[in-house]
Parts: sequence; structure tokens; C-alpha cells
Amino acid sequence: MKDIFDTHAHYDDKAFDPDRDELISALLSGRVCGIVNQGTDIASSRFSLELAEKYDGLYAAVGLHPECLDENSMNEIDTVRQLAAHPKAVAVGEIGLDYYYDVPRDLQKNVFSAMLELADDLSMPVNIHDREAHGDTLDIIKKYRPKGILHCFSGSAEMAREVVKLGMYIGMGGVVTFKNARKTLEVIDAVPLESLVLETDCPYLSPVPFRGKRNDSGNIIYTAEKIAEIKSTTAEEVLRITKENAQTVYKLK
Ligand SMILES: [Zn+2]
Repeated sequence: MKDIFDTHAHYDDKAFDPDRDELISALLSGRVCGIVNQGTDIASSRFSLELAEKYDGLYAAVGLHPECLDENSMNEIDTVRQLAAHPKAVAVGEIGLDYYYDVPRDLQKNVFSAMLELADDLSMPVNIHDREAHGDTLDIIKKYRPKGILHCFSGSAEMAREVVKLGMYIGMGGVVTFKNARKTLEVIDAVPLESLVLETDCPYLSPVPFRGKRNDSGNIIYTAEKIAEIKSTTAEEVLRITKENAQTVYKLK
């Protein structure tokens, strides 16, 4: 059965240099039906498109990640626009706010807003990163009303309900299997399966029992099992519904 859809991956990461092609081929000839590789800067957005050209089930998001910004970033918006015209570019991502890092907040907000305007212009969904920036992220989402995913969601159940009400999807990954995931489990409880999508953020955030090791899309099964437990259903049902959600949000059906 091909029922794993990884909505957020970084197979361009150097952690995959030794075996990238073998791994992606093996995953896509197994249970994985779709992967969206996220761009974090111009080079990685290009790399994502190159990977997408090689594999049927792999798609690219193109964008500027808050952690990768500098004085030149506002000048790169047009390049992102050009890359987004590629037939296998399905989203603008990974974009957003990260207040854990020292990148100036005004710069982050300006680039994030410009990326949301671009996505709106192109009628494309977005993949949003929000780390320790819940208030500003929600304010900006309410202003621009994008379609898409709030990835690796770390806000409260209350914020999750608001995001879902705005028509967006909540991205869940390996964190749901961690011992300290209480808040994340409350989020899963608070929103319907119809508003969840699954992801790895690989090579990072491997679920238990592989926590700390290199992650890949095959491990999504462990995330699905944990969500199934909370939703009193089967992992297969979680995979089936979240795959449909992913195909809907990325306009792949
Ligand atoms: Zn990511």
C-alpha cells in the first residue's frame, strides 16, 4: 500500500549525501507515495526542483527560511517567483518566523510577508515555520489568509483551533512520539484528522524509537501510530486521511 505522504522534508541536506538517490528511490518504490522537499534559500530551492525532476512522487517547495535571511534576501523574492513557475513547484516554503535565532525580526517579518504575497499572487499554498513566534505568526496569517500548512506545529490547542478555522492544515511529525509531547498531544486531540498532515522535517526530528538518528519519510508510520492512539483509530486510517489532506493542500489531485 502506498499511503505515506511526507509534506515536509529536506533531502537536500548534507546528511543524505552518502546515499540520497538510493534512499529516495527505495522510499518511493515502497510505502511512500509523496514527498514535498522544502527550499530554505535559493540554492536549496533549486536543489529541491532538481530532485523533483528526477522522481515522480517528489515535489518541491521554494522559499526563504527565516534562519537563512540576510540583507540581500528582499532582492531574492523575484528569483523565488521564477523558481515557483516550475511545473513541479507545488508550494512556497519553507517560510515563516523563528525567534529562537538572532535574525532581525523586522527582516523576518518583511520577507515572510513578501513570501505570502507571492503565494497569493501565484495561488499557491505555503509551508510555514513558526518557532517561538506564535503571536506574530498568527497575526500575519490573519492578515494574508494563506492556504497551506503550519509545519511542526508547536502552538497551543487554542491556536491550532484558530489556524484550522482559517482553513489551514496542521503539520505533525516525530515530536508527537517524544516523552514531553503533552502540548502536542492536546493539539491532536483538539483538531479533526481532516485538518492534519504528516511530515518528517528529515533529516531532523526522528520519531521514537529512532530519536536522535537520521530521519526519513518511512518513519512517518511511527508518527501515524501515535496519532491513531489519540484519535482511537488505526494508523492506516490516519495515513489514508492525511495523505488525502496532503494531496488536497498541494493540489495534487
Ligand atoms: Zn523544515
